[in-house]
Amino acid sequence: MARIQKAFERRFRELFAELGARDRDKGLAWIHHKAEQLLHTADPSSSKSATAPTLSHAYTEIAIAILNRTRPFRQKQRDRHASDHTHPARVHCDAGLGGLARWLRAAGCEAFWQQDITDAELVRETQQHGGILLTTDSLLLDRRPIVRGEIRALWIPPTLTMHEQLRYVRAELNLPATDESRCMRCGGELAQVNKEQVRDRIPPRTYKWLNEFFECTNCHQLFWEGTHWQRIQTKVKTATH
Ligand SMILES: [Zn+2]
Repeated sequence: MARIQKAFERRFRELFAELGARDRDKGLAWIHHKAEQLLHTADPSSSKSATAPTLSHAYTEIAIAILNRTRPFRQKQRDRHASDHTHPARVHCDAGLGGLARWLRAAGCEAFWQQDITDAELVRETQQHGGILLTTDSLLLDRRPIVRGEIRALWIPPTLTMHEQLRYVRAELNLPATDESRCMRCGGELAQVNKEQVRDRIPPRTYKWLNEFFECTNCHQLFWEGTHWQRIQTKVKTATH
């Protein structure tokens, strides 16, 4: 826990700096107090064992609340420093964040993920292509290009559920609510395709009932607004708040 707590402290200190807050030690003390309070007032019977509230969840909820409340201000600050080649909707996920990468793509984010990518490669890729590095490994934040501020990295609390990770990242990156999904398989852009052209690739029942089909411009995977799609959209929408 000590390492996780340290990583949260680091993020809150950065956030205070971004917001121009003066007494950062006092702010941090308030956050620790608030987190303990949240933890002890949480109703244990209302949560399933897999998502039992921990200090990590409490810190994340506080972070999301602060991020959402200060969103317009932070956006203005970022626009002012927009020359630093960061693409807010482009992220590079570490090897353990494949699931999050898929959901971020569904939320319209250009998310890169490679199985078995090493930390060094991940840092290099982010440097080369721009965007923000996402990792659950707080030690990775000590790498030189990150410490020097050459690339921006965001630490993702490892104990969060997928949905919580998604909510947290969306709040952190000020991602707008969008209906434009990207391909969940590779992150490519989706383009609407003519139903007749893809007839042999869709089940007959689907062909009969639906008219809108989308193809990934990169890997050519076919998507349509079946129940699976609706579930994805609902999940993405509830993660914006
Ligand atoms: Zn694709």
